[in-house]
Amino acid sequence: FSINMSQLQLEDELGKGAYGTVRKVLHKPTNVAMAMKEIRLELDDSKLNAILMELDILHRAVAPEIVEFYGAFFIESCVYYCMEYMDAGSLDKLQAAGVPEDVLGRITGAMVRGLKFLKDELQIIHRDVKPTNVLVSRRGGIKLCDFGVSGQLEKSLAKTNIGCQSYMAPERIKGESQNNIGTYTVSSDVWSLGLSMIEMAIGRYPYPPETYANVFAQLTAIVHGDPPELPEHYSDDSRDFVARCLHKVPELRATYAELLDHPFLRADRKRSVDIAKWVEEALEHRDRKMAEERQAKMLQDTVSA
Ligand code: ADP
Repeated sequence: FSINMSQLQLEDELGKGAYGTVRKVLHKPTNVAMAMKEIRLELDDSKLNAILMELDILHRAVAPEIVEFYGAFFIESCVYYCMEYMDAGSLDKLQAAGVPEDVLGRITGAMVRGLKFLKDELQIIHRDVKPTNVLVSRRGGIKLCDFGVSGQLEKSLAKTNIGCQSYMAPERIKGESQNNIGTYTVSSDVWSLGLSMIEMAIGRYPYPPETYANVFAQLTAIVHGDPPELPEHYSDDSRDFVARCLHKVPELRATYAELLDHPFLRADRKRSVDIAKWVEEALEHRDRKMAEERQAKMLQDTVSA
């Protein structure tokens, strides 16, 4: 079936991304809660149709580890993209206290299976693996979103600067600087996976911007420095797993099949992990932090008034 704006009842804003806003909506005909992403583009209608056609492949992206796609439409020069609503939001907002090893194992397993599915079944490379693009539900679901299905859409996005958090593999950073964008392979996603795991473990981006004088220095560290590691209190298996992802040489990184067969993920499949319970605690922690920040800001405003 196809979705259009008149069927949708707009609800809360869920977040703002680099290219637009994500809102919760209710699809009235089916009574299904959805997340609607608005992507602002600058281009003509013929290209918009090409984008919608390319997005159509998403109807085939049905797997337990992939956020379900319901449909897309455009109004003027905005694409509206409707997907499954994930009621605990993205991982970047849940990881602040650091993700314990058993939960990290469960999340990593889901990410690897999702990425392998995209590659094997749909010949899609994700291209934007990072905690923001892993969505979680209170029931314990863990799913990937925001993968690069539409070359046309990618080209039409208003190119903003790289920003201060790059999950790009060293070979991509080098390639971009040589204007050689054709070098993207699956192994670049494996690098981003390893980096995301460290971020989840320590609760912050592994190359903290405050350590570097500028973005250039930070990118230099990614390209020329030693890859980061999981902290020492994580098991040898988990640390080895991350090291297998974060090889500077792309050809030496593990494949998805090798990662699934790694002791770290084999152990995960043997134990029971209560993700729903962890999500509940992480949401509480997040809300407490937000309340504290609000209070601190109010105090500051009163002092400076
Ligand atoms: P980015 O451009 O940084 O990847 P997005 O525009 O994809 O961010 O999303 C912005 C925020 O909206 C996310 O951080 C997340 O919290 C929220 N969000 C995105 N998609 C969904 C969804 N399907 N369900 C619930 N929340 C979502």
